Amino acid sequence: MIKRQSGLETWSDINNFGSSPKKIEGALPIILSLGGALGVAPFAILRFVNGEYLVAVLDLIMITGMLLLGFFVYRTRKVRLASIALSIFCVIGVLASVYVSGPRQILWAYPGVMVIFYLLRPVEAVALILAMISGLLPALLVNGSSFHTTSVIITLLVMGAFAYAFSAVANQQRAMLMQLATKDPLTGAGNRRALDSKLDELIAAFARLSAPSSLIILDLDHFKAVNDNHGHAKGDEILRRITEIVNLRIRVTDSLYRIGGEEFVVVVEHLGIEKASHLAEQLRTLVEANELVPDHSVTISLGVAEIQQNETGSEWLCRADKALYKAKRMGRNVTAIAE
Ligand code: GH3
Ligand code: MG
Ligand code: MG
Repeated sequence: MIKRQSGLETWSDINNFGSSPKKIEGALPIILSLGGALGVAPFAILRFVNGEYLVAVLDLIMITGMLLLGFFVYRTRKVRLASIALSIFCVIGVLASVYVSGPRQILWAYPGVMVIFYLLRPVEAVALILAMISGLLPALLVNGSSFHTTSVIITLLVMGAFAYAFSAVANQQRAMLMQLATKDPLTGAGNRRALDSKLDELIAAFARLSAPSSLIILDLDHFKAVNDNHGHAKGDEILRRITEIVNLRIRVTDSLYRIGGEEFVVVVEHLGIEKASHLAEQLRTLVEANELVPDHSVTISLGVAEIQQNETGSEWLCRADKALYKAKRMGRNVTAIAE
């Protein structure tokens, strides 16, 4: 299922998925606001010089509004709200210019269409652009020839249709890109990169809200023997079945990652060690009871670790891993808790 979102959200999704989250997401509306304000400024000056004070004041209001919006995003990081406001601002700006300064200002509608498609989700953009065209109609019908009016409407619609097509394709590509970048192809579980990004997020939440979270690391017992005796294809099927079993049991807020050949991590959000260990035990008994291979019990060993103060993601994972090795030493098919 492809998530419908704006070009800005697509851009920020891809950029947030890395080392410097939130920077680009905040920067783009600010750049657009500053760019817009700078673009209108020369016209405001020209109007003043020519004595067209009403239009000059209108331009000034637009410049101030755009700068305020940029400042709002800079301070609050509320990008989505600002994107909606900026798009509505664009439409009001285009309508005001056409009604106050005449139909030649219709030229502003074209960059307006592109900005709106970039800032809003495709369906929202279509609705707003249709509203803008309806708003422009009376001015065009009164002032222009019918040929001119038809040309304006058709060129705006053609531009809107292409912008829609581009944003639909961008959505699809984004979904594929995120799938490739974050999922393990065999099981569909998250991959190591997705886990690292999740751990960073939880560590930040812990620092901010002291919300504890836990990791369960699990490894199949004697999996090499299962592969040797039943074939690699059967081994792959078992890995997929275990993914299903775990996914069915964990909560929607928890997430599963495959970080090695037959090693998985469950991120248990906002649960302390006690409840996470309880979940780990449930997973262990579920896998054991599932008889994944006839006449041979496939089992898992698990290590559980709760996040600690000032710990990095890899230190946290390392503690869970040590607990897993303890479980292996204890004889396998066991859950062990990290120190
Ligand atoms: P232990 O209980 O100590 O974990 O023993 P083990 O045999 O599970 O561990 P070991 O690390 O010796 O072997 C892991 C095996 O997992 C080796 C390999 O055959 C198997 N394996 C790793 N990745 C895959 C995979 O993608 N598909 C299949 N079918 N097997 C895999
Ligand atoms: Mg193993
Ligand atoms: Mg292993």
